[in-house]
Amino acid sequence: MLKKILIANRGEIAVRIINTAKELGIKTVSIYSEFDKNSLFTRLSDESYYIGNSPATESYLKAESILDVAKKTGCDGIHPGYGFLSERSFFAEMCEKASVKFIGPTHQAIDFLGSKTNAKKIATIAKVPTVPGTVEPLRDFNEAIQIAKKIGYPVLIKASAGGGGKGMRVVNSEQEMESLFTMAQNESKASFGDDKIFLEKYILNPRHIEFQILADEYGNVVHLGERECSMQRRLQKVIEETPSVKINDSLRKEMGECAVKLSKEAGYSNAGTIEFIIDEYNKYYFLEMNTRLQVEHPITEMRTGLDLVKEQLRIASGEKLGYTQADIKFNGYSIECRICAEDPYNNFLPSTGKINYISRVLGNGLREDTGIQQGNEISIYYDSMIAKLISYAPEREMAIAKMKRGLENYLIDGVKTNISFLYQLLCSKEFQTGDYNTQFIEKEFLNRFNSNKNSFDNVYLESASYIDAAKNKIGKRKNGISEIINLNSSNWKNFS
Ligand code: ADP
Ligand code: ADP
Ligand code: MG
Repeated sequence: MLKKILIANRGEIAVRIINTAKELGIKTVSIYSEFDKNSLFTRLSDESYYIGNSPATESYLKAESILDVAKKTGCDGIHPGYGFLSERSFFAEMCEKASVKFIGPTHQAIDFLGSKTNAKKIATIAKVPTVPGTVEPLRDFNEAIQIAKKIGYPVLIKASAGGGGKGMRVVNSEQEMESLFTMAQNESKASFGDDKIFLEKYILNPRHIEFQILADEYGNVVHLGERECSMQRRLQKVIEETPSVKINDSLRKEMGECAVKLSKEAGYSNAGTIEFIIDEYNKYYFLEMNTRLQVEHPITEMRTGLDLVKEQLRIASGEKLGYTQADIKFNGYSIECRICAEDPYNNFLPSTGKINYISRVLGNGLREDTGIQQGNEISIYYDSMIAKLISYAPEREMAIAKMKRGLENYLIDGVKTNISFLYQLLCSKEFQTGDYNTQFIEKEFLNRFNSNKNSFDNVYLESASYIDAAKNKIGKRKNGISEIINLNSSNWKNFS
């Protein structure tokens, strides 16, 4: 087993990794930026080192400095988390050359699968269905127009190196192609330093379903079931759940087998995620593979009882999986809500500031993954996620009920949050029945949410004794408060 690892990340995922390492007796080293000098993860790790200024380019993206700290502190592994350097093959390669184990796949696998077009080629070889479109980068918009004619509009222009929903444009007609093509190309160049663009059929009202896989370094691969990630806003996931209400066991089995076949074909090792979209006729298509631990991995942990970070560390230490597909047992339902510092009443504008007060009631089927503590600040430097709230229960209704309880009791003062938005999403009849697709929030829900604005805005705290403390602390400053919500208000109950 690895003995000492450096965590090349921050916030909730750094805390998440440190916790498991500690449980396994593995020593931890964290690195921090100027902004993070008082963050929770720096105190939970055994050692912590300053790496640079707050912008990520001057800290969490400084590959050489980070590797240097790992070497000087005698680490035998580096966990990249998600985001930052996690999908940069050059970093994995630097680690490999320095004999510091990169806790993830090989640099070759990251490099190859990091290109969506290459990944589609592998899928085709593995006989996994892909979205109709090109697998070679397009020369120019004229070529795009020729191909779109064959596929039929609408089409989607995508950046081969894309991620985080960047570099994508829906094109509805030939007239729009030139300008949207150029826009996508420029965005891709600016975000990923790569302007390769390809084209896919735009699937109408699709669902996003992804499969978690684990692969050891000896060719053994299992899948850990699916995650339903269709609750999206601007192509970003908002709520995830497992299992999906909308796929049956035979489809689940078929897609799970596809995920395993593709991982084997790619020579993949460690934890990874195969993303699919499913059209209105339940036809599924491979989208891309994420070669890292995913934000929403906890719901899979709740349902399988496996600790994914532990499995990553075991695999990276050269251990065999030690189980087969038949050994993986699935139990219950799990939901994750991403609690973000943003203002749902103002176009989700990121909200920054100091968290003066935070209180939540967890336990009995409610887990929270966070790197935040009272007194911490939310800044412009990093993404706006404050915490992930994860519920787990034998039945879906109870998993929803637990999540609602968690959100009702989640009180924050200092920044605006999307808690009321998440709560109302959970209450919608579409979520209740599981009948939603990636377009639901933008095409339907946002109107509903905005037209109910007044009944939910700034409702005041009352009742339960455990929030009395909150009342005393922040209730007095009623007029200056940025957000205090009492989701227990009867207004909420009628919302669907
Ligand atoms: P997941 O696919 O795990 O749900 P997201 O797409 O939400 O993950 O992204 C995970 C994290 O990685 C987020 O913090 C996001 O800001 C970051 N991220 C995603 N893609 C990129 C990218 N291409 N470059 C840098 N950061 C990225
Ligand atoms: P990223 O790397 O940014 O995560 P993905 O290829 O995974 O890019 O796509 C992100 C989201 O965009 C998907 O979850 C889905 O909602 C939407 N999307 C991607 N491809 C298509 C498509 N061909 N048709 C319709 N929607 C798509
Ligand atoms: Mg994706």
